[in-house]
Amino acid sequence: MEPNKIIKIIVDEMKIEKNVNDTSAFETLVTTIISQNTNDKNTEKAVKLLKKEIGLDIESILLAKREKIIECLKPAGLYNIKVPRIIELAKKIKNELGDERKLDLMSDEEIIDFLSKIKGIGPKTIDIFLAFKRGRDIIPVDTHVSRVSKRLGIADKKDGYFEIRKKLEEIVPKGERLKTHFALITFGRRVCTAKDPKCTMCPVKDNCPSSKQFLSYQRKVETV
Ligand code: SF4
Repeated sequence: MEPNKIIKIIVDEMKIEKNVNDTSAFETLVTTIISQNTNDKNTEKAVKLLKKEIGLDIESILLAKREKIIECLKPAGLYNIKVPRIIELAKKIKNELGDERKLDLMSDEEIIDFLSKIKGIGPKTIDIFLAFKRGRDIIPVDTHVSRVSKRLGIADKKDGYFEIRKKLEEIVPKGERLKTHFALITFGRRVCTAKDPKCTMCPVKDNCPSSKQFLSYQRKVETV
C-alpha cells in the first residue's frame, strides 16, 4: 500500500479533533522545553506545578527563585539543563522584545532566527511554535512521529529531524499536516508504543515492515 494511504488510515482511526493550541506563545515554548527527553505524563506534572507554584508567564519566571523553578521541574527530569533554558528564553524575550506579544508581529523567518539563537531551542520547538501558534502547514517531528515513521518504513533508521519531516510532508497533502502530526502522536502513544507496540490490534499491521519482527518477539515471550 502507498505510504500516503497508510498515513490516511492512521489519521482516520485516531479521529483527531483538536488541531489548535490556545496557550500563550511563552507557554508553548516552555512546555516544549520541559517535554524534552521525558514522557507526556511527566511533562504535564511539571507544567501543572509550574503554573500553580510560580505562574507560566515571563514576569513570574524572572521573579521566581531558581530553586523553586527546579522543584517544579523535577518530575520531568533534566531540570539542571531545562531551567536555565527557560530562564534564558524569558530573559531574551523580555530584553529584546519587551513583551511576548511582539512575537506575533514577527515574520516566520524572524521568529526562526530569534528562537534558534536560544540554547536548547531546536527545530522541533520552532516547528511546534509555527504550527500551533501560527497554523503553519508543517509536521513537527517528536519522538512518537519519528518512531512511527521509521517503523513504517517511511523514514530510514538513520534519518534526522529534517529528513523525516521532509519525507512525511512529501506524502501528506497540504492542509492535513498538523492533523497528521497529532494523529501520529496519538498512534504512537496508544498503538505503536516505544515498548511492546500493539501490533496485533494495529490497523496498518499488514503494511508495516516492522510488524513481523514485533509479532514474532511477542509470540516467543508468550510461549516462554
Ligand atoms: S504493526 Fe506494530 S510496529 Fe507497525 S505500525 Fe503497527 S504497531 Fe507499529
